[in-house]
Parts: sequence; structure tokens; C-alpha cells
Amino acid sequence: MLVYTIVVDGTGIHTFKEKHCEHCLRREYKDKETGEKTKVIYMHHVLEAKLVVGDMVFSIATEFIENESEDVPKQDCELKAFKRLAKKIKSTFKRLPICLLGDSLYACEPVFDICEKNKWKYIFRFKEGRIESIATEFQAIKLLEENNKNNKNNKYENKEGGKFVWAPDIPYNDRRVNLLEAVLEKEDKEFLFITDIRITKRNAERLVQAGRSRWKIENEGFNHQKNGWHDIEHVNSHNYTAMKNHYLLVQIADILVQLYLNGAKILKGLKKSVKEKASDLLEAIRTRILTAEDLHQLGKPMQIRFT
Ligand SMILES: [Zn+2]
Repeated sequence: MLVYTIVVDGTGIHTFKEKHCEHCLRREYKDKETGEKTKVIYMHHVLEAKLVVGDMVFSIATEFIENESEDVPKQDCELKAFKRLAKKIKSTFKRLPICLLGDSLYACEPVFDICEKNKWKYIFRFKEGRIESIATEFQAIKLLEENNKNNKNNKYENKEGGKFVWAPDIPYNDRRVNLLEAVLEKEDKEFLFITDIRITKRNAERLVQAGRSRWKIENEGFNHQKNGWHDIEHVNSHNYTAMKNHYLLVQIADILVQLYLNGAKILKGLKKSVKEKASDLLEAIRTRILTAEDLHQLGKPMQIRFT
């Protein structure tokens, strides 16, 4: 089954020393000894849902993390914004088979609920402190697996000596979750993921690969937009609506830039004049519908086995 992997992640785009508008997020710093407020910074953050296609990441939905007004009792945060973002994704892509990727912040009951309700799969990084009971259960199962040399069911070793161990059906409230650990000696890296996808010898490595592609939103996504192409942290206007509109336009521009840069290699190889290429391209945009096969040629959407 083909699923579209979508990374969700938040990032800061603007920081101010003084209050900028009534929607700013505030972070207060206090003196450790006296507890007195020493400074306040004002920020604007954004939560992105980005589709991973090969080495490209395309923004498919944006949610600004912002306070409704200055005097809200509790400030907005990434998880609250995620609930709004999830609604947006579901109403725009009603039946798209989706697998969400995210950091360990997302490994929590409200997010599991949303995924289940929307029939989305998920692979999130899991940090042991996030849900204590799951972490303890996983360590216990892992120990049993290690001591039982005859049992080769829930482990797998790839050709490069990467070791994968998993624990299926760990109970958590009314649901069951699966944990997957990868120790990749060659790269000197370890990963722990939580997922609702059934883990098998056939898909373990692929799941880890999919889970790791979350980093693309940091590298190909935010870093390029901050330090490379678009300088999204630059304040082009102090008008909050204009700031948001500018951010959204950058997302569209970014999709076009990535498609151009990746398509440029293919375009160069074509034995046609610039004029011919341009008119062919225009004709294609006018008449052709993007198929699953086209997407495959661009880069591969993630293919994950569920059995
Ligand atoms: Zn503001």
C-alpha cells in the first residue's frame, strides 16, 4: 500500500525584544535566585505539514502558532496548533492515505486519537520520558528478546550490521502501540520510534527510513527557507496579516524552486530548444494531470508494507 508521508513540525520564524502585536507568543525569563522576571521575548512560530517526495519537501498545510489575544490564560502551543492543522489536512485531503512523521512531542494520546479518527498511520520518534509506562514495557520486552536466543521473531539484522528490535502491541490506555528500535553501528546512530503500523522483518528497515525522513523538514525545509533561499526570518512588514501572507507565498515559491531545481536536471538532458521546452511545459501544465507514475519519477513517495 502506498502512503504519503507527511512530516509535521513547528519552528520559530520571528523573535522580538518588545511586544510586536497582540498575537505574539511570550517567553518569560526569571532570575533563578529571586524569581523576578528579568526579560520577556515575543515570538511568532509556525507549524508545518510537509509532504516528503524523494529529497523534496512540499508544504501542504500551515498553521500559525499564535495567541488569540494578549490576555489569554494559556498560550497557544504546537500541540494545540496541531489539532487545528489536522482538521485542515483532513478536510483538504479527505481520503489520502497518510502516514504522519513527527518528533517525540507527538507521541501522546490526543495525537494518537486524531490519527485513529482520521485513519492516518503514524511514526513518531519516542523518547523514554515521553510515556513512562510504554518505555518500561519496551525495555522489559527487549530484555526478554535478548535473553531468548532462539526467538528470532521480533528482530532483524540488515547486511550492514544494522540491528532492528521491536515490541508489538504494547498496551496504552485503550489502544496498543508498537515500538521499534534501530541500532545502526555503521552510522553510529540509534533510533526509537513509536508507530501504529504492524512491524515485520519485511518492513522494519523501511519504517526506520521513513521515520528518519522527518529530518528533511529541518534540512530541506526550514534550514533552506531560513538560511538559503527565502530568508523567512526577515521581517518584511510589521503588519501581522502581511507577515503571514508573505510566509504563505514563500511556501508556494519554495515548491516551484524545488520542482525547478529537481526538474532542471531532466530538462537539460532533453534534446530540444529552450523555446520548445517552454512550450511543451506550458502544454503539459495546461492539459496533463499528474499521475502516481509521475510522482514516482520525481522521487519516490514512501512505500510501506502493512503486512
Ligand atoms: Zn506579534
